[in-house]
Amino acid sequence: MLSDRITSLPPSETLAMNARAAAKRRAGERVYNLTVGEPAIRVSPLVSDAVVRALEAGKTQYPPVAGIVELRDAASSWMNASFGSVYDRTHTLVTTGGKFGLYLLFQALLNPGDEVVIIAPYWVSYPSMVELAGGRAIVVQTTEAAGWKVSPDDIRSACNEKTKALIINNASNPTGVVYTREEVEQLMLVAQEKNIFVISDEVYSGLVYDNQPFISCASFVGKYGNIAVVQSASKNFAMTGMRVGFVFANPAIISALEIVQGQSTSGAATICQWAALAAIEHADSILPDIRTVMQHRRDVFVQTWNSVFHTPIKPPQSALYAFVSLADLGLSGSSTQACLELLERGNIALVPGAPFGAEGYVRISFGDTEDELIASIHALHHFLNNA
Ligand code: PLP
Repeated sequence: MLSDRITSLPPSETLAMNARAAAKRRAGERVYNLTVGEPAIRVSPLVSDAVVRALEAGKTQYPPVAGIVELRDAASSWMNASFGSVYDRTHTLVTTGGKFGLYLLFQALLNPGDEVVIIAPYWVSYPSMVELAGGRAIVVQTTEAAGWKVSPDDIRSACNEKTKALIINNASNPTGVVYTREEVEQLMLVAQEKNIFVISDEVYSGLVYDNQPFISCASFVGKYGNIAVVQSASKNFAMTGMRVGFVFANPAIISALEIVQGQSTSGAATICQWAALAAIEHADSILPDIRTVMQHRRDVFVQTWNSVFHTPIKPPQSALYAFVSLADLGLSGSSTQACLELLERGNIALVPGAPFGAEGYVRISFGDTEDELIASIHALHHFLNNA
C-alpha cells in the first residue's frame, strides 16, 4: 500500500528510544534522560510577550509564504551584523524550523540520482531527506582520532560528475566540532573547484563555547559559488517548539524554495514568526544568556563525568552533546543494542551512534538541567559498574 520511497526509509531510532523512555515515565518509573535535543531552558519573556501581543492583535491569519517581511528583514540584518554577510529580504526565507529549510533545499536542488556529500557522524535526518528528494547520500567518514573533522581531500575524493551538493554541519550535532575560518574556507574552495552547492547547517551557531568564534559560510557569500545557509530560532533562542527556521541563499534559490513551501506548508505559523522577530530583535541579550547557561551545563557535565568515569571526556566545543565510544563506557556490540539495554535495565536513555553513521558510539546530551545531568551521570556510572 505504501510507496517504495517510504517503505525504504529507516524509522527514527531516536524517536523510538524517546517513545520507550516516555512509556516508562508514564508507568511511574524514574528515567534518566540524556537524549534531550534542545536546551531545557524556558523561553525568554521577551519572546512569550510577543506571542501574546501577536494573538491580541489578531495576527492569526496565513502569513506570506516566504515569511513576514519584518522577520525576513530582521533575520537578514542579524546575519549581516553577526557574520558580515550581505543578505536582504530577497535572500531570506522563513521556514517551519531549520529542518524544513533543509528539506526544501533538497527538494528544490536534486534531480533523481544526484549525489549529496554528507560528513559522518551526521545529523540523522540528512540521508533520509536526500533520499526522499530522489538523491543519493554519499557518506564521508571522519574519525575521533582526527577530531571528527573532515579534510578537503576527503571531500574532493567523494565528488564526481553526479555530485550536486555538500552539506556541512558547523557547529555539529553530534560531535560538537567547530571549524576554524581556514577550515571553512578550504571546504568552500573544494566546493567551488568541484562546482557543487554548499548547504551549511548552522542551527547551533549560538551554542559555541570557550569564547571561540563561530565562522559562518555566510561570511563567504560573494567570494565563493553557491551557498545556502540554514539557520533556526530553535536552539539559539531556546524556542524549538515554535518551529521557526531560515534559509539564506541567492534570490533565485529562495524563489524556488518559496514555490515548494507554497505547495506544502504555506509557511511558518504567523504568531511564531512574531515570536522569532522578538527573539532576533533582542538577540544581543537572549543569545549570550542562553550560551552562558549552556556553557555552565557543559562544564558541570564534563566535571561530573570526569570525576566518576576513568576515561575522561574532552569538553564538547559546541551544541548540546558529547559523542562517546562504547569502548570508553566499557561496552561493546551494537550501539542500538547497548542503548536499549541501558534503557530497559538501567532506565538511562542515550542515543545510539549508528543512525548518525557512527556505529560504536553513543550521543549523550547536556541539554537538561544541572541537577538532572548530575543525577543521570551518576546513574549511568552506577549501572555500568554494577551491571
Ligand atoms: N540541524 C541539526 C544539526 C539539528 O540537530 C537540528 C535539530 O535537532 C536541526 C537541524 C533542525 O532544527 P529545527 O528544525 O528545530 O530548527
